Amino acid sequence: MAAVSPPVFRFAPSPNGHLHLGHAYSSLLNQEMARQSGGRFLLRVEDIDLRRCRPEYEAAILADLQWLGVEWEQPVRRQSEHFADYAAALQWLKSKGLVYPSFMSRKEIDAHVQASNGTWPHDPLGTPVYPGSERDMDPEILSLRVAAGDDHALRLDMKKAVTLVGTDLTWYEDKPSGGERITADPSAWGDVILARKDTPTSYHLSVTVDDALQGVTDIVRGMDLYHSTSIQRLLQVLLSLPEPTYRHHRLITAPDGPKLAKSAGSPSLRELRKQGIAPDEIKRQLGL
Ligand code: GLU
Repeated sequence: MAAVSPPVFRFAPSPNGHLHLGHAYSSLLNQEMARQSGGRFLLRVEDIDLRRCRPEYEAAILADLQWLGVEWEQPVRRQSEHFADYAAALQWLKSKGLVYPSFMSRKEIDAHVQASNGTWPHDPLGTPVYPGSERDMDPEILSLRVAAGDDHALRLDMKKAVTLVGTDLTWYEDKPSGGERITADPSAWGDVILARKDTPTSYHLSVTVDDALQGVTDIVRGMDLYHSTSIQRLLQVLLSLPEPTYRHHRLITAPDGPKLAKSAGSPSLRELRKQGIAPDEIKRQLGL
């Protein structure tokens, strides 16, 4: 009989601040699900934003997770060390004519939206979708601007991508009460950014590439990323990558237990630790 590979889970924080209770819940849930299924558990540091991510936050994240009792496999994948992997995926999408440079600033986009008298479409996060002004421009003119060093992002031609992939794109959403297939709606996001002006990749591109490269089979993360799944599924199909299973868990916005509730707002794990709250108390109050 062929050996069945164990499921692979991951927790993927960005080192642009300290961990909060939501992160504690997500990492512990991933670890628990990996244990229960005889699976592996990986930690990935998502530090593509070189301006906001800092090594001291990364060190704090590792220390806080250790304190919480989270254990992960080595080595930890650090996205800033793998820009070449994202560039290769981007190159593939470019070769299919799915990528164009966009030069508009946030101000220019806003002006465009204002001119539409409130009818402009917004993405699932409430951001106006990109007007796609450069989409049908002469590629030679665009190349000249790029060569001249004009600041630009690289965007996915969503219409072309959806035409290529078809409209029956779905993902499997696992739920404690039983799973179901969800219809993906990547078009709602418009021409998403694949490489930002300030960094040669984007969240969607690097997360999709890494989940595949690391063999992640089960993506367990907060509901705030539910709609992002539409884009990531689209990229998976475009790049011929395997399809993982998803579970989007509830968001922990404020502590509800009496002990944790002593702090106003959403305290970091560091703060809770300083207050003398034990990891077991945190787990208990998170229902884990
Ligand atoms: N790095 C992302 C975050 O911190 C999570 C990515 C993911 O789980 O897909 O929000």
